[in-house]
Amino acid sequence: MKPMLIAMPVFLLTIAIEAWIARRKGRAVYDIADAVTSLQLGVLQQLMGMFLVGAAWVGIYLAVYKGFRAAELPVDSAWVWLLALIAYDFCAYWAHRLDHEVNILWASHVVHHSSEYYNLSTALRQSSTTLFLHWVFYIPLAVIGIPPAVFFTVSLINLLYQYWVHTELVGKLGWLDRVLVTPSNHRVHHGQNDYCIDRNYGGMLILWDRLFGTFAEEREGEKIVYGIRKPLRSFDPVWGNLHTFAALWRESVSASGWRAKLGVWLAPPAGWAVERDSGFDAAGFTRHASPVSSRLRWYVAAHYLLTTLFLMHLMSVFRELTLVSQGFYALVIVAGVQSMAALNEGRSWAFRGEQLRLLVLAAAFAAAPDWFGFVAPDGMKPLVVVLLLGSAAWLERDDMRSPAGVAA
Ligand SMILES: [Zn+2]
Ligand SMILES: [Zn+2]
Repeated sequence: MKPMLIAMPVFLLTIAIEAWIARRKGRAVYDIADAVTSLQLGVLQQLMGMFLVGAAWVGIYLAVYKGFRAAELPVDSAWVWLLALIAYDFCAYWAHRLDHEVNILWASHVVHHSSEYYNLSTALRQSSTTLFLHWVFYIPLAVIGIPPAVFFTVSLINLLYQYWVHTELVGKLGWLDRVLVTPSNHRVHHGQNDYCIDRNYGGMLILWDRLFGTFAEEREGEKIVYGIRKPLRSFDPVWGNLHTFAALWRESVSASGWRAKLGVWLAPPAGWAVERDSGFDAAGFTRHASPVSSRLRWYVAAHYLLTTLFLMHLMSVFRELTLVSQGFYALVIVAGVQSMAALNEGRSWAFRGEQLRLLVLAAAFAAAPDWFGFVAPDGMKPLVVVLLLGSAAWLERDDMRSPAGVAA
């Protein structure tokens, strides 16, 4: 978990730099409500990872490695690391391809595609449920004997590699586009245009797509429309994780016979018989927009940062906390995530809900002798309480409550 503690400030800094460059170039690459939703989805995924990766996934990998490995591969050999990198990427290609070809996997992976923007924050828009489904694709690596330390490092490298390719600001890169996953060929993967559907699944190497017939080159004359064809139309990260599962569940319940019910979960997302890849109207597409004032969006962005601080703190003290404290801290974070979502969505109860959250937070911070092991230095406590109560009062301003486009 420690590498993530270093990565998170780097993510936020590079996102700020990308947004600044895009703004200078006059390109609409970011929307605050969309970006915050992406980042909050990243928060939920990290929370889920903290509770599950340590407990379940590491355990499964270790058990298979100990019980069933075919060979004893040395940790200190460069060849083992290279083999692990390539073999992991191969498994990742197939996991990702099936994510797009089987409904139950798509219901989880759809999260990553639900943004209608394409920027570095989109990279962090990750599903909280992938962990439950994806581990099985990597079991062969334990069987061939990739040592656990190598495996988990390589999986982190593969994940972090995919961060930088989520940008519109880097153009084509020549021969690199033919070998590696790059911004150009991953943009195609996120497109809704007909030629983009089910293309470019690679994680680090685009060679797999070339080999297995799923590669498409980015077209110069056709602007890519990002997102999914059954749009999420929500800034709620929990709903973002569940919406396709909910749709499949409804479909499955109304299907008659167990074959049909099961078939719903195993069908391709476009259906068994539907003709695919045709008729997308790029010109008629409009992005989902938050109905709230820009001042409120900035408020949400600022409080997202506070949520991130909490997440980083939880990551750093996770193992020292009891399960009850871990769960309680996670609830504090999820409450922040959902309150920001309600504000972004313009829900009628969102302001009162957020003020209540701030009051409870301020009272808890003031009253508790320590904040999950963190003892505030002199003077910090009153400052934090004033900031939280000030935020609650700030929400009373008229220009926070006016709809989008009215406030400055
Ligand atoms: Zn995908
Ligand atoms: Zn992506």
